[in-house]
Amino acid sequence: MSDVLAVAEHRQGELRDVSLELVTAGRDLAEQTGGDLHVAVVGGAVDEYADALDREGVDAIHTVAHGDEFNHDVSTQAVEQLVAAVDAAFLLVPHSVNGMDYAPAVAAGLDRPLATDVVGLDYDDGLTVTRELYGGKVEGTVDVEDDWAVLTVRPAEWPVAEEPGDATVESFDASIDDGAVRTTVNGFEEVAGGDVDIGEAEFIVSVGRGIDEEENIALIEDLADALGATLAASRPIVDNGWLPKNRQVGQSGKVVTPDVYIAIGISGAVQHVAGMKGAETIVAINTDPDAPIFDIADYGIVDDLFDVVPELIETVEG
Ligand SMILES: Cc1cc2nc3c(=O)[nH]c(=O)nc-3n(C[C@H](O)[C@H](O)[C@H](O)COP(=O)(O)OP(=O)(O)OC[C@H]3O[C@@H](n4cnc5c(N)ncnc54)[C@H](O)[C@@H]3O)c2cc1C
Repeated sequence: MSDVLAVAEHRQGELRDVSLELVTAGRDLAEQTGGDLHVAVVGGAVDEYADALDREGVDAIHTVAHGDEFNHDVSTQAVEQLVAAVDAAFLLVPHSVNGMDYAPAVAAGLDRPLATDVVGLDYDDGLTVTRELYGGKVEGTVDVEDDWAVLTVRPAEWPVAEEPGDATVESFDASIDDGAVRTTVNGFEEVAGGDVDIGEAEFIVSVGRGIDEEENIALIEDLADALGATLAASRPIVDNGWLPKNRQVGQSGKVVTPDVYIAIGISGAVQHVAGMKGAETIVAINTDPDAPIFDIADYGIVDDLFDVVPELIETVEG
């Protein structure tokens, strides 16, 4: 009967999808431990977020109204207090920029073990987590030899919780020591080329090294435009400076979960696949029939992209 506490995430006034994935992961774990699932949200429009977080399987939602945006010190203090207040054995936090920022501090503050970037949770008289090693080439299971732990959960591994719930919503009066809050968020500034968040895109056309030369990227841009899709890329394209970093999909880029992902001239290296395997439908265009991308593709075209893409554009544009 170990309870689980999952902490949601928001940014610039929006609850992030990963929060509802965390609800699914938390529900899976709470079902296995036989405990309750608590969900918390710290800062921002907490009442609005609480409504959105009220999904099937959530027993209680705790809101902490303090500030607008994520703050390391506020989250660390509030979440430490919440863990104690609800007596949660397992704390789940997204493995995101924010989660990676404060989860280790909470683990240290509570003197609990920390397991990061978790992709699987199994409980049978003790918790075993699954993590990927060697850039995703190997999966390892890690036994947590304690009755409690702090876990950062990889985005896009669990589906978004969809069904509405009937959780209780309580305001938690965290005692925040403002003197110990050492940083403030002054605002957000988009970096050059940061106009697009591929993480939110529903339809992605992604280009890899098979495109051969920078000037050929325009062909893939034309396809993306014709389809109304967002342009993304594998790492070599970004490393070459042919597209900005915010377009990179993969382990060291962004995790994307579109409805459709078209991989063009991309081999399907594990580091790339780590960022797009959550796509609902994957289409691959590649001259090499043995390219690993075809192992995960729903539809594959073994052909030269310079023949296929112009034909696709012509077909779409009629
Ligand atoms: C720590 C680390 C982190 C990394 N992070 C990332 C990451 O975030 N994202 C990422 O993408 N990579 C990442 N990588 C790099 C990764 O290992 C691969 O090198 C990279 O994904 C390969 O990109 P690619 O598929 O575009 O190129 P390649 O592997 O070179 O594949 C090109 C493909 O194009 C095909 N092709 C060639 N010509 C044509 C044509 N005319 N028509 C059709 N197909 C054609 C080829 O058959 C081939 O399969 C990382 C690596 C490391 C070590």
